[in-house]
Amino acid sequence: MEWGIANGFFLAVILVLTVFWAKFKGDIGELAVTYKLKDLDKEKYRIIHDIKLKNMGGSTSTTQIDHIVISTYGIFVIETKSYKGKIYGKEKSRTWTQYLSNQKNSFMNPIFQNYAHIRAIESILEDSYPEMTYHSIIAFSGGANLDAIEVTKAKVCKIRYVSEAIKDLSTEEVIGKEDIGKIIEIVEKNKSHQTDLTHTREIKKVKKENEEKIKDNICPKCGGNLVEKEGKYGKFIGCSNFPKCRFVLSQKKKS
Ligand SMILES: [Zn+2]
Repeated sequence: MEWGIANGFFLAVILVLTVFWAKFKGDIGELAVTYKLKDLDKEKYRIIHDIKLKNMGGSTSTTQIDHIVISTYGIFVIETKSYKGKIYGKEKSRTWTQYLSNQKNSFMNPIFQNYAHIRAIESILEDSYPEMTYHSIIAFSGGANLDAIEVTKAKVCKIRYVSEAIKDLSTEEVIGKEDIGKIIEIVEKNKSHQTDLTHTREIKKVKKENEEKIKDNICPKCGGNLVEKEGKYGKFIGCSNFPKCRFVLSQKKKS
């Protein structure tokens, strides 16, 4: 084999392995963000990928964070979403909706999800950095149409604009350069060593427990009773503790 061909072959193998690895990790979007974050100035922005931290007040013991960018402008917490189609979402709605040509799906509001990540980071830094600024970024893959999303407190963008989004939000320096390393040290020290498998099992267990509760008409969020209610769009099942608890059983798809 000629050197050029051997080289090309070698690169192709690396590429295939990398793609497989990313798929195996469950999200190719994460890899794309990792690639895009390389545009950032390494002196100013330090990055931690795919880390698990202790979950504060959540139903699972750890929370998995896709990317954390630590800079003098504060801490950027990035959640990636691989959804195509038109996305509808509001700041405070429990779920967002994805419209594809022949179906619609709802998914958990990623701002809430990322807020849990921010809480987890905040809780380990609050002793040393109680005044830290946190920026929430939700990065969607290329096939998503984000025109209908109405949010102000988080940045929702395409993965390819993630480093621009970070630069746009880099307006005010809140810590010194020397703090960046200290923060990374604290975060690394608080890393959870729970394996991916245990984490997945735990998520499954919680999901199953919630399903059992719902079967018994118990609200999985607060333990209240689930009752039938009359809403704008017809009957639905919700928590009797409304408005304290806003749990609503998601509409069953017509079969
Ligand atoms: Zn409830």
